[in-house]
Amino acid sequence: MKAIIVHGGAGDAKITHEIPERVQFVKKVAEEGFTLLKEGLDAVEVAVRAVKMLEDHPLFDAGRGSYLNEEGFVEMDAGIMDGSKLSIGAVAGVRNVKNPIELAYLVMEKSSHNILIGNGAEKFGKEHGVEFVPPYYFYSERIIKIFEGTYGDTVGAVVLDGKKIVSAVSTGGTPKKHVGRVGDSPIVGSGFYANDEFGAVSTGIGEDIMKLVLSFRISLYYPKYTINEAVKNCIDDLSRINGRAGLIALDKNGNIGYAFNTKGMFFAYIKEGQDSVIGGF
Ligand code: ASP
Repeated sequence: MKAIIVHGGAGDAKITHEIPERVQFVKKVAEEGFTLLKEGLDAVEVAVRAVKMLEDHPLFDAGRGSYLNEEGFVEMDAGIMDGSKLSIGAVAGVRNVKNPIELAYLVMEKSSHNILIGNGAEKFGKEHGVEFVPPYYFYSERIIKIFEGTYGDTVGAVVLDGKKIVSAVSTGGTPKKHVGRVGDSPIVGSGFYANDEFGAVSTGIGEDIMKLVLSFRISLYYPKYTINEAVKNCIDDLSRINGRAGLIALDKNGNIGYAFNTKGMFFAYIKEGQDSVIGGF
């Protein structure tokens, strides 16, 4: 069974005229990811490529579209986990890296560590030929307007290639965050998790997500419940502590789960046996 679910953030999407374009794009990412899976690409590669597409798009809070922090610059977090090996790679607070998910992937594959932060992560990226961009790459009129605005547009993907499940996430964090703030996204178990049974990625207010270790929390309910019920239970638990987030997941059989208690969440998924991508906000 091959399957992919992607998200483009949970939140209020206050810039409503952008919603159709963003829905179309997450659907496109799921579709292209699924085509790559059918061509035989590995789940790790597909998850990285899917997240990279979203990082390169200016309307999502990751990579190019990252929110600015309180001092008006971008600090990004990303993480990836290969459920078949329980291998982890994550980066936090990185600046001027075009695709933080690629850096997280390199930490997973080429270092003996799980998480690198700030300067150390950037140094590691330089050692491994990661692409760096000048600060103006991140400054658009939109982002400067949002500087006063909303939250909640991280990106993520969970991919099953028939053998393994991989979860990947990338974010610019919350708007106007304190310099040095790290959200849930690079924290294994909170922002992302994968094993042989299921994979999951969270989005929303990182400070809330961490309280319930939201991505790993699914294991409290799954496999006793279906993956979709398990995901909904996790979001209900979060509502009880007044947290706000979205969660996407899939299990080893390609069953899909997603839920959110925000106004909406950009999501799209497709799996074998399904005619076309299902997605929305
Ligand atoms: N979870 C991310 C963070 O707190 C933000 C988001 O999902 O939009 O950094």
